Amino acid sequence: MKNRSPQTRLVHAGRDPRGQHGLVNPPVYHGSTVLFPSVDALEKASADPFAGVYYGRYGTPTHFALEAAVAELAGGAGAVTVSSGLAAITASLFSVLEQGDHVLVADSVYAPTRKFCDTMLARTGVQTTYFDPMAGAEIAELIRPETRALFLESPGSLTFEVQDVPLLADVAHAHGLSVIMDNTWATPLLFQALAHGVDICVHSATKYIVGHADAMLGLLVSNQDHHKKVRRAVAALGNCAGPDDCYLALRGLRTLDVRLRRHEASAAALAEWLSARPEVARVLHPALENHPGHEIWVRDFHGASGLFGVVLKPYSPQAVAAMLDGLELFGMGFSWGGYESLILPTHPETLRTAAPWHAEGPCLRIHAGLDNVDDLKEDLTAGFERLCAAG
Ligand SMILES: *Cc1c(COP(=O)(O)O)cnc(C)c1O
Repeated sequence: MKNRSPQTRLVHAGRDPRGQHGLVNPPVYHGSTVLFPSVDALEKASADPFAGVYYGRYGTPTHFALEAAVAELAGGAGAVTVSSGLAAITASLFSVLEQGDHVLVADSVYAPTRKFCDTMLARTGVQTTYFDPMAGAEIAELIRPETRALFLESPGSLTFEVQDVPLLADVAHAHGLSVIMDNTWATPLLFQALAHGVDICVHSATKYIVGHADAMLGLLVSNQDHHKKVRRAVAALGNCAGPDDCYLALRGLRTLDVRLRRHEASAAALAEWLSARPEVARVLHPALENHPGHEIWVRDFHGASGLFGVVLKPYSPQAVAAMLDGLELFGMGFSWGGYESLILPTHPETLRTAAPWHAEGPCLRIHAGLDNVDDLKEDLTAGFERLCAAG
């Protein structure tokens, strides 16, 4: 399968019909206890609990099928499933950091990542320095003798700056750091993080991989040097995903390419249309030529997904509420990556510490779902009318 195209591998990865009575999909194994036939077998299994089915918390064949599929798609030595995207992030940091260490984190990361660094990591004696997501080789100046890891997210949450991952990874590796990246936006289909120098790639599978807003799940895909460390960290933290959720993620994977292509096309059409609206100051979408890091996105990515940002001209919070409250097709709520369209008011200026965020007016985040894009434009047009009427 290694030589096949990603679309074909999505269809076949992690499946073994011959091992399961010919049925196309792997069964869902529900289980905690695993019975061993003898003391000898029990002791042998305990010597390496990651070698096979050992105890429910370490995974079942359903987990292993998803992990094998994602490791193959992302080009990793292995993948590990956890209970949420945030659990994948925290496990990735705990797998490489210990008391007294220092970590560099992009200023545009997902807000709960930041919260974890500022609270739990700080309490365990790990210091965090945030850096401008558009920084290049100058991040070397922030590296201290005790710096152990670099945490990237590209494009950034809410603001969508595209980072120069290969360059940053080279600088980090020259100083012996581990490179972690949150690749939730692109999925392994649109950005091959490990091939671009990342050591541990984390995904909120809750988003596009599950794809139907019906499960919480996280994945960590690592290279040979980091996979065992990640497995041990996840085991030590007691984190495990439910088998039904792994099944939903496996099912989501099979249609990931077709869904992403529609999300991409609709988001691109909306981004272009919104750019020309008189109410809009700027659209934050990596495929737009003036977007920060656009040329890096062109160089490194295989496309865009359906999530992007919009900066409005100055309008009152009441006017924005009037616009959003009346939308019929866009829902308001957290997460994204499902089939449904979403919109959210965002406040990136409240999160930044290294690279202050200046916007002309209120910010929105839009997820283009699988609805017809002309219907989505109509819904937004009516919203803009309410926005202007409310001033
Ligand atoms: C949603 C999200 C997460 C967290 O995922 P959960 O599955 O909700 O825990 C992590 N990173 C990014 C970029 C996200 O958007």
